[in-house]
Amino acid sequence: MQKSEPGLSRITNAAMTIFSKIIQGSIPSYKILEDERFYAFLDINPLVKGHVLVIPKTETDKFFDLEDDYLSGMLVFSKPIARAMEKVFDCNRVGLSVVGLEVPHAHLHLIPINSADDLNFNRRKLKLSTEEFEKIRDRIIAAMEK
Ligand code: AMP
Repeated sequence: MQKSEPGLSRITNAAMTIFSKIIQGSIPSYKILEDERFYAFLDINPLVKGHVLVIPKTETDKFFDLEDDYLSGMLVFSKPIARAMEKVFDCNRVGLSVVGLEVPHAHLHLIPINSADDLNFNRRKLKLSTEEFEKIRDRIIAAMEK
């Protein structure tokens, strides 16, 4: 897993969400892409192979409480990732989902889908090995660079 640069110095460690700890680097993640405002990484309990989470580097619980420029910017940030996912995975398209019932830090799920059931969060999650996660991460990153 890859550690990111520190990015949330104003928040004390104890008060940080698990996703802020991922951005800061104290919890590892399979990072896909990062800029000044957003961070994308593989979901550790994927619904399907290639399930990506996109998060803002600000701690806001509910998605629609994000500032307008963060809301729109999050989709623009996600675009090259979704395009790369469509190249890498055998999917009809990349589906989007906002749930947020587990982690109180706004996030967008990007999921390669072939049917609506691929977005069913009640279904059993995949268990992947470190090697599988690393391979998926590397394939998405390589496809973004083409
Ligand atoms: P929800 O808040 O309901 O949208 O779900 C949160 C998502 O975050 C779930 O799909 C989890 O598998 C995922 N998740 C939780 N902790 C981690 C982590 N440390 N690394 C990657 N994904 C995570």
